[in-house]
Amino acid sequence: EEAHAELKRDYLIHDEKIELMQNIIDRQLKAVPDLYELGQEVSIYIGIPFCPTKCAYCTFPAYAIRGQAGRVGSFLWGLHYEMQKIGEWLEENDVSITTVYFGGGTPTSITAEEMDLLYEEMYRSFPDVKNIREVTVEAGRPDTITEEKLAVLKKWNIDRISINPQSYENETLKAIGRHHTVEETIEKYHLSRNAGMSNINMDLIIGLPGEGVKEFRNSLSETEKLMPESLTVHTLSFKRASEMTKNKHKYKVADREEIVAMMDDAVSWTKQHGYHPYYLYRQKNILGNLENIGYSLPGQESIYNIMIMEEKQTIIGIGCGAASKFVDPRTGKITHFSNPKDPKTYNDRFEHYTNEKIRYLSELFQKHAKSGSQQE
Ligand code: SF4
Repeated sequence: EEAHAELKRDYLIHDEKIELMQNIIDRQLKAVPDLYELGQEVSIYIGIPFCPTKCAYCTFPAYAIRGQAGRVGSFLWGLHYEMQKIGEWLEENDVSITTVYFGGGTPTSITAEEMDLLYEEMYRSFPDVKNIREVTVEAGRPDTITEEKLAVLKKWNIDRISINPQSYENETLKAIGRHHTVEETIEKYHLSRNAGMSNINMDLIIGLPGEGVKEFRNSLSETEKLMPESLTVHTLSFKRASEMTKNKHKYKVADREEIVAMMDDAVSWTKQHGYHPYYLYRQKNILGNLENIGYSLPGQESIYNIMIMEEKQTIIGIGCGAASKFVDPRTGKITHFSNPKDPKTYNDRFEHYTNEKIRYLSELFQKHAKSGSQQE
């Protein structure tokens, strides 16, 4: 009650949003009852900075993969090195991993063989992989998904993936540079299901250029036919460095009223279909000053998403553009550290970035071990 009062009084948050936040907290604690005791463990984010093409709204480290074989090879070499060194440190210091998340870019942009070697490295380098609560691989771009790659995921026991339609209008997909069709999204979704992927997330974006309530409702009714385990509803944000922001005049987006109406549709649709909100975040320059909300069917929440949002444990970022958050378990103080975004700098300096992270980890966990023994 005190928190609710403070949110209302000091942050001017409406009752409806406070209720949403409370629902999210309740959901998170159901999914991760020991959320507040996981400061002694870590989660790992692995950034693979390649995509088939670059989407117009994107500012992630994502480089068109075509014709980059040499650079991809050197990048993967650095990535394997980081996994080995970080894994060694975790093993030696008896620190367990709660979750692993392969993001980027699109981690399924690399070949099936490269994926196979990468997951093999994960099992070889990271401690106790069998007991990691969740491993997710973003397969966001349907045009990267093949039967062969799905078989590799299954081989390594990875069954949580993300396939992101963003929209179910071919014209929109073309306008934002995604180079895949609605039909391909649906086809790859079924292919993934048949290959044994049992926890699929799908992302939608409210407010894509040329889209209004009608198009968004179509996206929701298409989602109804698929019923993924989780659905993340983003609101378009104009990030400074994106193609879309640089050429804003070319992209016509809905007004605030319509954006709010679409968000309301998402809220009622998810409720009617048994999804619950379980994480939320906001970004700068987001349309309608709204938020991004992750929904899931009960029991299908992504633990990694909860860990990254709640900032209760250290997230070690490996690979290109991967951001690490070192969370001091005693004080909650957070130190950020980022790997370089472009593959060239990463390939030249990955050893330096690995050493820096190991230095942070040693300081943090040693300090914590000392204070733990003092308390005893
Ligand atoms: S698929 Fe994702 S990471 Fe790749 S360019 Fe598009 S938005 Fe960026």
